[in-house]
Amino acid sequence: MKFPKLRGNKQYLLVISLLGILFLSVLVAGLYATVTSSNDVERQRTAGLAKLAIKAQLNSLKSATEENAYWDEAADNIYRGTDHRTFFERNWLPSTAENDRYELIWVVDPDGKPVVAGENGEIVALDMGQRFGPGVDRLLASLNRPNENAATLIYDKNEVAVLAASNIRYTDPAMNAVHVKDRPYRILFKKRMDQKLVAAMGGDMGIPGLTMGTSASDRPSIKLFDGQGAVIGQLSWKAPSSGYIAAWNSLPVLLAGSLFFFIVLGIIARFGFNVIGRLAQQALTDSLSNMPNRRALRQAIRSRDYAGQPYALALIDLDGFKNVNDSYGHAVGDRLIRKIADILQKDASDDGLIARLGGDEFAILLRGTSAKDRIEGMAERFIQRLHYPVMIEERSISVGASIGLVATDGNSIDDGEVLRRADVAMYSAKRHGKMRAEWFDPQLDEEQTIANELANELRISLANEELDVVYQPIVAVGGSQCESVEALARWVSPTRGPISPDVFIPIAENTGLIDTIGLFVLRRACSDVKDWNGLKLAVNVSAAQLRNPMFPIELRKILNETGFAATRLELEITETYLIADTALAQKVIEGVTALGVTISLDDFGTGYASIGFLRQFAFGKLKIDRSLVKEAQYDEAARMLVQVSVAAARALNMVVTAEGVETEAQADLMRVAGCDQLQGWYFGKPMANHRLLDFISEQDSVYKHTI
Ligand code: C2E
Ligand code: CA
Ligand code: CA
Repeated sequence: MKFPKLRGNKQYLLVISLLGILFLSVLVAGLYATVTSSNDVERQRTAGLAKLAIKAQLNSLKSATEENAYWDEAADNIYRGTDHRTFFERNWLPSTAENDRYELIWVVDPDGKPVVAGENGEIVALDMGQRFGPGVDRLLASLNRPNENAATLIYDKNEVAVLAASNIRYTDPAMNAVHVKDRPYRILFKKRMDQKLVAAMGGDMGIPGLTMGTSASDRPSIKLFDGQGAVIGQLSWKAPSSGYIAAWNSLPVLLAGSLFFFIVLGIIARFGFNVIGRLAQQALTDSLSNMPNRRALRQAIRSRDYAGQPYALALIDLDGFKNVNDSYGHAVGDRLIRKIADILQKDASDDGLIARLGGDEFAILLRGTSAKDRIEGMAERFIQRLHYPVMIEERSISVGASIGLVATDGNSIDDGEVLRRADVAMYSAKRHGKMRAEWFDPQLDEEQTIANELANELRISLANEELDVVYQPIVAVGGSQCESVEALARWVSPTRGPISPDVFIPIAENTGLIDTIGLFVLRRACSDVKDWNGLKLAVNVSAAQLRNPMFPIELRKILNETGFAATRLELEITETYLIADTALAQKVIEGVTALGVTISLDDFGTGYASIGFLRQFAFGKLKIDRSLVKEAQYDEAARMLVQVSVAAARALNMVVTAEGVETEAQADLMRVAGCDQLQGWYFGKPMANHRLLDFISEQDSVYKHTI
């Protein structure tokens, strides 16, 4: 039988996954932030380095220029000589071809006009305005006394170049004062900032991939400005990866840490979930039988598996379980519950659920179109099984069961209503004699309403002493002598007229009124029959009355008060009570017989009491039920049962009475079968006390009414 599955594992995985995703997201975000901020720092640092590299180029060319301008020999030639070109060709021109520091040198006069120029080892003619624009003029304008050297970036022949200028001067300020005055000649050096130079700058400064110009947008770069602030070029370099490298390097540690974290988290969560899962399971399990409990049953009905599907429910209530507990103790009671659970489970199918609802209540739930038929089969088989006692250790324990059955299409009613209907059907089964299964019928609800109304009316009638007792003669089999009378309760409802005891006695049993009614009948009958010397009195006693521990005490009290001899009294009890409450029944019967009262087994042949069962109790009398008397006329087996029962009762010294004899033929049959007494309409209907006088006087009565 399937137990409603807990979704614990799925929930566990879901929560762990969510936590995992959350954790990884935080980790990745953290790494990303670290990488980007580390890269940003790196970008700023390299940008600084790139600017430094430019400055170094400017400074380097400026000092080269100054070395050549701050030179007495050169100053002499420029300010006091005449052949500037020869000096130039000898001292400066070769260097424009020989080294990497510059490739163009020229000298300008104090007005800024070129005097002589050489580029890459050749004398060239310079039209500066055309070649360099106003940049050179600005540079030259910035040269003055305290500021005798200057350098700038310049755009020349489609590329960026460094340009440096210096005032040509003597090392001796006195000479300068005489020859240079405020009109210095200048010497200018130009160096192309080609890719080769840029790469070397990058190498020197440690800027990877430094190039002139931008190639990719994510490459960091700085703009290059000329002296007037116009952008003339751009240096760019490889995007920094130190953040990624740091992240990459820390990855193994992070992964190991995460793994550890997850393992620990997993263990903690698994443990937590196990506990939660166990608690949830416990909440749905009956601890005694290990079966699903009422909550689990209701949950199953509400679950998707049952929604919109036909299903059927059997509600099983054990009869006499309380008595097992009382007589043998709770340990045996618990074992009986487990045994019953086993019996039910052996007959279980896979698509259903068997639950213990608590106490002595069980339920079977089946679904599908065949559920209705199958559940009835299961109920019948279970009742059939209980016809045999349940063995617990050496004890054989008999319990009964009343079963309520409900079937539904799965759409119209909810779990609460299904259980209520099963309950109503189960109580109806109990009312109709137990050891049976009954389907819910809407009429039962109506009956219940009527039963409730009747119970109220009965209570009022009882208080108003509106109940009555009639007597039915029981005659000796030989003649027609009345040996005893059976007291039968009568109730005429003020609103509904006469109500049969078959209706109001069960209501009284279910509402607790039976104790009062039973004692009332007993007291009234004892006082009515007391004066018929020698006439015996039979009074019916319900199982519910016998379960009341006060019963033997009340009985003795009534016998004392009415002065009725205990030996004249017979208490009629039904086998249902004996089956359900075997141990207690034994005790009560012993207590009652000790007073001298006889116990009769009523309605024999309607239930399942075997002949062997008769031995267990000290019955003084056996009453063969009128249904068996009727059947015996036509049915050989029934006749046999009567004969065998009579023989067994004889052997046990029991008197046998046949009930419900309506015809002479029945009377003859019972006589032949060996019955001692006969009772039925054929001899006399139940009658009022005053009519009993006429009835007995009509006979050759041996009884003398003492009044
Ligand atoms: P019971 O103990 O089996 O009582 C015999 C019933 O059979 C009585 O029905 C009686 O009227 C009926 N009867 C007698 N002879 C014939 C006959 O020849 N043919 C037919 N068809 N019926 C016959 P009644 O009085 O309606 O009582 C029904 C049941 O109610 C009784 O069955 C008994 O179990 C219960 N009962 C009646 N009075 C009391 C009472 O004071 N206390 C308790 N606990 N139960 C009572
Ligand atoms: Ca009876
Ligand atoms: Ca009877």
